Amino acid sequence: MKPNKRNNNNNQYTLFDRKSLLKPLDNNPDWDVIIIGGGATGLGVALDSVTRGYKTLLLEQSDFAKGTSSRSTKLVHGGVRYLAQGNIDLVQEALYERGLMLKNASHLVKNQSFIIPNYKWWDAIVYTVGLKVYDFLAGKLSFGKSIRISKKETSRRLSTIKTEHLKGGVVYHDGQFDDARLAVNIAQTAIEQGASLLNHFKVIRLQKDTDGKVSGVTAIDQDSHREYNFNAKVVINATGVFTDEILQMDTAGAKNTVRPSQGIHLVLDGSFLPGNDAIMIPKTADGRVLFLVPWHHRVVVGTTDTLLDSHSLEPKPLEEEIDFILETANAYLNKHVSRADVLSIFAGLRPLAAPKDPSEKTKEISRSHKIIVSSSDLITITGGKWTTYRRMAQDTINKVIALGKLPREKCQTKHLSIHGADGSADDDDHLYIYGTDQRAIEELIKGSPELGEKLHPRLEFLKAEVVWAVKNEMALSVEDVLARRVRILFLDAKASQDVAPQVAEILAEYLDKDEAWKQSQIEEFTQLADQYII
Ligand SMILES: Cc1cc2nc3c(=O)[nH]c(=O)nc-3n(C[C@H](O)[C@H](O)[C@H](O)COP(=O)(O)OP(=O)(O)OC[C@H]3O[C@@H](n4cnc5c(N)ncnc54)[C@H](O)[C@@H]3O)c2cc1C
Repeated sequence: MKPNKRNNNNNQYTLFDRKSLLKPLDNNPDWDVIIIGGGATGLGVALDSVTRGYKTLLLEQSDFAKGTSSRSTKLVHGGVRYLAQGNIDLVQEALYERGLMLKNASHLVKNQSFIIPNYKWWDAIVYTVGLKVYDFLAGKLSFGKSIRISKKETSRRLSTIKTEHLKGGVVYHDGQFDDARLAVNIAQTAIEQGASLLNHFKVIRLQKDTDGKVSGVTAIDQDSHREYNFNAKVVINATGVFTDEILQMDTAGAKNTVRPSQGIHLVLDGSFLPGNDAIMIPKTADGRVLFLVPWHHRVVVGTTDTLLDSHSLEPKPLEEEIDFILETANAYLNKHVSRADVLSIFAGLRPLAAPKDPSEKTKEISRSHKIIVSSSDLITITGGKWTTYRRMAQDTINKVIALGKLPREKCQTKHLSIHGADGSADDDDHLYIYGTDQRAIEELIKGSPELGEKLHPRLEFLKAEVVWAVKNEMALSVEDVLARRVRILFLDAKASQDVAPQVAEILAEYLDKDEAWKQSQIEEFTQLADQYII
């Protein structure tokens, strides 16, 4: 099979217009591969599939990365804590993928230094040795050598760290990125390669042939409310914590395979962690890991690990999780963090394998990915992490080939550039995250200087970015723009409420919507953003 690349030389941006992607669906009921779910996992599978030459369709019920994939700690990492648990294979695989991500999505993945502050001499030795192993496992794709630093150097680099009893620190390197933006860029790459990817398109049923094998899906366009039937040689369930809903469409009453574990993050002003280094606290009071990571000139602090009994697209942080993060941050920082300092708070759900013994702790359950082949030939891919999305996709499509459902073609994604990759994630200008698209946004501003105005006096984001999101990144709602294209909801939830009317105005103009639509968008978004404010 030959990849069916779309011509992206003349006007590549019209490719990412949802209407032009919808139009051909009427005459295209037959696909090789249909993927349900547009998070990191599904998007990775779509890109792997289309670049091997298979006719590929991905359907996402809400927006790309609306689920867990926009709610991560924003690390591209091997997982220092998995190393401590002795999970060498998992760490080595993730470190390799980390290296590929830095090359293939160079505009978004930054080399980030982390400092582990040591308050006991023994810790300094243990972490220095452990991180040397981490460096060794990264091999040629190392992000930089880990080193031990003095107390003076630690407090110089981390000016807000508590210095009483501080003995020194250990510096190591990992990657840092913008998760939702990478999701959008992977979607764009897959579309450029010839795949069809649609957000706001919910799968409501699986279709089966007379042998009981899955042969397609029924889905609803959430914008037009129109129902579609699509046939496929293979259907892939990449729905994260929603995995069991699809498995239950396949077999009514099927046992749950996934148990959600919630992790929350608080976002603080950059003054809580000035400088370029992140902090890694390897053992909190209850044995977890806590990160304080610079992100878009703010600081992301997290995370927790709380087993839940139910899942949702908008999980809510629990009071005890908020207290735990504030207490832990305050145990290490000399600048006191209070609830009033929290600019935004967000929660995400890990789809962990449901433990057989309900008393089993989630930290002890394997975090590697799992591929399930149902008797109906529905393929389910769950678990893993953002960092390993490419490898998860490769394994999934390899499995489909091994089952004889698709002709054998080699994986093409190892050295495939992601849309926007331009060789540097230099964050002097906040527009850097657009990579090769930055120029086009600057051109927009040249043509209409008012688009160069800031959306909010407290924020760096510009009106032009909203126009860009609706015209070229398939944003359909105020939430799509403010949560996953310019990230204001995650960076400053109150400010996101202030700018919602402006964003609704711009969207209404480009999407041709009326006053009632604008008002309902503003109301819906304001209500949603209330959950991100404490
Ligand atoms: C708190 C936390 C922090 C993390 N931090 C990191 C980190 O720093 N680095 C890292 O590498 N990994 C991290 N991870 C892991 C990583 O975020 C996840 O592994 C990854 O995002 C999971 O992606 P996914 O596509 O499987 O799931 P999701 O992103 O949840 O995507 C599933 C999608 O399926 C869609 N869907 C569901 N049902 C349907 C349907 N019927 N029709 C159509 N679509 C449907 C949903 O809307 C959703 O968008 C973290 C995870 C958590 C919870």
